[in-house]
Amino acid sequence: MKILLLGANGQVGWELRQTLSPLGSVTTSAREGDCDRPLDIADLSGLAELLDAHRPDIIVNAAAYTAVDKAESEPELAMRLNAEVPEWIGRWAADHRALVVHYSTDYVYDGTKPEPYVETDTPNPLGVYGRSKLAGDEALLNSGCDALILRVSWVYGTRGNNFLRTMQRLMAEREELRIVDDQVGAPTWCRRIAEATAEAARTMRGRDNNRSKLSGIYHFAPSGETSWFGFAAAIRAAGGYQCNLTPITTAEYPTPAARPANSRLDTGKLRKAFGIAPDAWDADLAACLADDSRRPTEADS
Ligand code: NDP
Repeated sequence: MKILLLGANGQVGWELRQTLSPLGSVTTSAREGDCDRPLDIADLSGLAELLDAHRPDIIVNAAAYTAVDKAESEPELAMRLNAEVPEWIGRWAADHRALVVHYSTDYVYDGTKPEPYVETDTPNPLGVYGRSKLAGDEALLNSGCDALILRVSWVYGTRGNNFLRTMQRLMAEREELRIVDDQVGAPTWCRRIAEATAEAARTMRGRDNNRSKLSGIYHFAPSGETSWFGFAAAIRAAGGYQCNLTPITTAEYPTPAARPANSRLDTGKLRKAFGIAPDAWDADLAACLADDSRRPTEADS
């Protein structure tokens, strides 16, 4: 089984290197840095050449334009990476009977629903990033390929740009931080997404009818919920920081892109289809921090 992993140096992509390896031979691609096939996927002909040369059985697309606020001023690039690239991948996969694994976002919803979102809820993105990701989901589903789209939210890990790393840096530097307390969701460790991906892909990897029946969008999130303020408070407690935290409203922290107030995702469909039962978000945070503290440092070598 040949697996092509795009975006192999991102938060989720980096973890996928490990979790996908038991499924087959993994070829990694990234814009730059450590990978087998360097490629800027905005170059669609380069992408087509890579697919034709490699002929993967599974394409895992962890690459995306993820700068939510910057997307407001770069809509064309966001659409190219988040909508046109998945469309191309989907067309190639449909022609070659390959499985596509792709990621979507809670930002396709407007956040006005009082309950957690289910996959059949009508999307209504509030910004360019959400619109571009939704266009990618729709293009992939319409391409005719078998696709597993995991819709995730509030992703963090110990690499890259994310809320955990920003908080750790700011809490060490500052005496006080003001954190938004009226957006709710479930912080999601990127490793759990990579593990769920491998589990679901293992179930889907055959080329039989079952795979087509399972094709579609699935929400993935840990159990429980919190706000950004609650997430920050958990990071503060775990790290023993002295920094004072003040809860504020979204209106007090204006950003170029609007965010949904409710990012909670119901994961019942994923459980039923693949038997995946996510852990609690705070247990995952503890596991992530413990894992980070076990990593060798330069001083150890
Ligand atoms: P990251 O931003 O960590 O990783 C995205 C990767 O895409 C980066 O490694 C980036 O490369 C790569 N990339 C961007 N542009 C190009 C390009 N032109 N050519 C090649 N590679 C490119 O994102 P995550 O791992 O967090 O996200 C994984 C998926 O989850 C994405 O689909 C995202 O939309 C979705 N998601 C993420 C959320 C989050 O909170 N982060 C929330 C909800 C959904 P480089 O390092 O060179 O920039």
